Amino acid sequence: MFSKILIANRGEIALRILRACKELGISTVAVHSTADADAMHVRLADESVCIGPPAARDSYLNIPQLLAACEITGADAVHPGYGFLSENARFAEILEAHNIEFIGPTAEHIRIMGDKIQAKQTAKDLGIPVVPGSDGEVTASDDAHAIAREIGYPVLVKAAAGGGGRGMKVAQTEADLDTALSTARSEAKAAFGDDALYMEKYLGKPRHIEIQVLGDGKGNAVHLGERDCSLQRRHQKVLEEAPSPSLNAEQRERIGEIVANAMRKLKYRGVGTVEFLYENGEFYFIEMNTRLQVEHPVTEMITGIDLVNEQIRIAAGGDLDMSQDDISFEGHAIECRINAEDPVTFAPSPGTITYYHPPGGLGVRVDSGVYQGYKIPPYYDSLIGKLIVHGRNRVECMMRLRRCLDEFVVDEIKSTIPLFRDLVDNQAIANGQYDIHWLEKYLADKSN
Ligand code: ADP
Repeated sequence: MFSKILIANRGEIALRILRACKELGISTVAVHSTADADAMHVRLADESVCIGPPAARDSYLNIPQLLAACEITGADAVHPGYGFLSENARFAEILEAHNIEFIGPTAEHIRIMGDKIQAKQTAKDLGIPVVPGSDGEVTASDDAHAIAREIGYPVLVKAAAGGGGRGMKVAQTEADLDTALSTARSEAKAAFGDDALYMEKYLGKPRHIEIQVLGDGKGNAVHLGERDCSLQRRHQKVLEEAPSPSLNAEQRERIGEIVANAMRKLKYRGVGTVEFLYENGEFYFIEMNTRLQVEHPVTEMITGIDLVNEQIRIAAGGDLDMSQDDISFEGHAIECRINAEDPVTFAPSPGTITYYHPPGGLGVRVDSGVYQGYKIPPYYDSLIGKLIVHGRNRVECMMRLRRCLDEFVVDEIKSTIPLFRDLVDNQAIANGQYDIHWLEKYLADKSN
């Protein structure tokens, strides 16, 4: 087992990882930018190293500084969290070259799945159903119109290097296609430095359902059920739940087994998530994330499995110590992403938290790095915490969520808590009847 882990991240996820390390008896090293000197993960870690100025590219994305921090502290492994360097194959290789373990999959798997065109082809080869679309990249010289006609409108133009919903444009009809291609191309170039595009059939009313997997890199893998992340704004998840209100046990087992089998064939190591759109009873692969996800706690709540603990154990060479039959799903869990944003305009609202009172009680988990008096810096994403609740069934879970949202106080900054208070009282949400476009429509109707 590792003796010291450096956590190459910040905010709630740095704290989440730190807690897992402590429970395993592993020493922790926090890294931070000058803007995060007062962060909770820095205070609670055994050691901390300042790795640069506020801008992420100079600190949390600065590989030489992170390596130096490992060297100074003698860390023998790095946990990258999510975002930042978590899906950077080069980082994984550099660490390996320095005899430091990267807590994640192999660089090769990160690379395959990081390119969405290659990922889709790999998924197809492994027997995973994919969204109908172009056969690989749509180059500038191709007749994109002919390809789109064959797929059938509406079509979605996507960036091969895509992430965070960027570089994605819908063409409703043939007349929109050229504009969709050129805007997606320039957006992809600006955001990822890579303008490779592909096309997919645009699904009208899908749900976003993703399967959590865990593998040991030796050909053993299990699935831990699904998460439903259909409640989205600008292709970004807002609320997630497990299990999905739209799947039954037989459907879960069928798709879960397809994915787990694919991971066995790949000899996938660590945690991963295979994302699907689900429409009319069919699953369509969209991408795989080769890291821990923001919404992983809902899976932990219904399975009782600590995913970060498993990641660390497996990275240290451990075997998968469970079979598919050992995994059972108990009750229902929902996560709300609490952002420091105006709940109506979604404008970021950094600043000082003058009063903080998180909810508590049975089945309640708050993963957050903030505290009373904490000053939210303006340089990073606006996630300040996650409220996760568990109940014996979905109704109990929703009642508990409503109660927790009423208790939750985060002053004076603006947060998205009021949005969730509205959502728990909505009939469509109560019934679990929503697709990936539902929230955008709801917000548009509310502002009219
Ligand atoms: P990113 O990596 O940028 O998050 P994804 O491929 O995971 O991109 O897609 C993000 C979201 O975009 C999905 O959850 C879904 O809401 C929407 N989306 C992606 N592909 C399609 C599609 N073919 N049809 C309709 N919506 C899609």
